[in-house]
Amino acid sequence: MTATGTAVAEVGRDFIRDIIEADLAAKRHTTVVTRFPPEPNGYLHIGHAKSICLNFGVAQEFGGRCHLRFDDTNPTKEEQEYIDAIEDDVRWLGFDWGTHLYHASDYFEQLYQWAEHLIRTGKAYVDDQSQEEMRLTRGTLTEPGRNSPWRDRSVEENLDLFRRMRAGEFPNGARVLRAKIDMASGNINLRDPVLYRILHASHPRTGTAWSIYPSYDFAHGQSDAIERVTHSLCTLEFEDHRPLYDWFLEHLPVPSRPRQYEFARLNLTHTVLSKRVLTELVRGGHVKGWDDPRMPTLAGLRRRGVPPQAVRDFVKRVGVAKANSVVDVAMFDFSVREVLNKTALRRMAVLRPLKIVIDNYPEGQSEELEAVNHPDDPAAGTRRLRFGRELYIERDDFMENPPKKFYRLSPGREVRLRYAYFITCREVVKNRAGEVVELRCSYDPQTRGGNAPDGRKVQATLHWVSAADAVSAEVRLYNQLFARPDPNPADFIADLNPDSLEVLTGCKLEPELAAANTGDPVQFERQGYFCRDPDSTPGDLVFNRTVGLRDTWARVSGGKGA
Ligand code: ATP
Ligand code: MG
Repeated sequence: MTATGTAVAEVGRDFIRDIIEADLAAKRHTTVVTRFPPEPNGYLHIGHAKSICLNFGVAQEFGGRCHLRFDDTNPTKEEQEYIDAIEDDVRWLGFDWGTHLYHASDYFEQLYQWAEHLIRTGKAYVDDQSQEEMRLTRGTLTEPGRNSPWRDRSVEENLDLFRRMRAGEFPNGARVLRAKIDMASGNINLRDPVLYRILHASHPRTGTAWSIYPSYDFAHGQSDAIERVTHSLCTLEFEDHRPLYDWFLEHLPVPSRPRQYEFARLNLTHTVLSKRVLTELVRGGHVKGWDDPRMPTLAGLRRRGVPPQAVRDFVKRVGVAKANSVVDVAMFDFSVREVLNKTALRRMAVLRPLKIVIDNYPEGQSEELEAVNHPDDPAAGTRRLRFGRELYIERDDFMENPPKKFYRLSPGREVRLRYAYFITCREVVKNRAGEVVELRCSYDPQTRGGNAPDGRKVQATLHWVSAADAVSAEVRLYNQLFARPDPNPADFIADLNPDSLEVLTGCKLEPELAAANTGDPVQFERQGYFCRDPDSTPGDLVFNRTVGLRDTWARVSGGKGA
């Protein structure tokens, strides 16, 4: 525990925390205000979790506050469903914005006034060029752009046109408001960027009050300034936008001057973290929804049984840096396993059942055996398992003609049934097709609890469930959604893993599991971590595999693990 605590504190240091600490020490700020600014055009994914943990994390650590602000400037892509899901997911992750819930749309009137301010100071103009014309005159990385023929309109004409844009006089795309900066700037973001466009669309919050909407760039920095955000933390792709945000702050009477700092996005192998791609996966029916357990969305992870603690631990492990990199998804699984190993109660479940009959166990008899709920946590207590003449074991745990290194059940071989008895396979029963359908076994009544009084050993311990008591369930096994470690976002459909979902039916679980809650992780002994899926009904249980037991990341990375 101590070792983990130290490790976390070490990776918890990063250049952003250093900057904040220095700002506070130098009294440039007396408090820290950050914000997490999602655009409500999709569900949050694990990349967003990095930003959430960073923004809410530093606010907590430095005794400041973190706002949740929806950057809702594009009504054609934004929906109330996403707003609600984002709030749920941030809370699930363990963060609380208190009363500090904001929307860029709350500032539409102020932003509009500031746009007029820019017009009045000769720093913005209404452009009648089409989108295509603007694209053609923007220039390239190596060539300057060309001034619009409308760039030198008078302040009066600009104000009149802009007010009529607001009043809804013109159709979509007829005109835009642009900042008058520098069409020859080496930074394309400064080549007279668009501030407002005409869009006759209903907004989830402002309805049809507006027929013009601010660009993301015009809204974002000023929203930070209105909220008196001190440290505006965003991902590296906004580095080139910073000069524009600073230009706005310089030329507008804003109430504060936030500073922007950029950090690297989280990228994961076998995963695409882009709302555009995730939206297409959902709309195209390639997954069952935003909360499909194969999705890297927080809703998907939650449904798969990933505890929020594991997401937070993982983000901490990855750290915050300035250089982009791709993190092995096995490192995420490692974080999940580490939390679940501590918290999940142990249960027995047979995923591919093979029936066994204990011939020398009296018919009609049964008994109760004691099993521990967690091997490292006596406080988790014990439960009673019913043992009887007919049981199920895992089909894979038996081989009729075992190779040399197979130590589990085979004809004539003795193994231990966990918490129960030693059994020996006496006879293999097959159907007409020659498939094994049942094993006849004997048990040694002297070995109750799993040990032989004569000290003889067995080489395998198998999990099992009693046939008379077991509950049947469907179990969904998830594999990587993308077969390739580096799926191509431009043609991601081709990279989908056809075996990302494996559905097992007729699985046999110990009866205790019928009462499991969706939020409670369980370990199916020898199989992995699972949780009940909300698709379950009282008569039809469904379980998801959250993650298998094997720890490949620890092996690959040299075993710095559990
Ligand atoms: P996407 O690229 O997935 O569509 P986005 O950046 O458009 O995401 P926003 O809603 O604008 O989505 O993101 C909100 C915040 O989350 C932004 O500050 C953004 O920088 C951050 N963010 C988004 N993706 C990642 C990521 N992969 N890693 C870290 N932070 C991210
Ligand atoms: Mg964005």
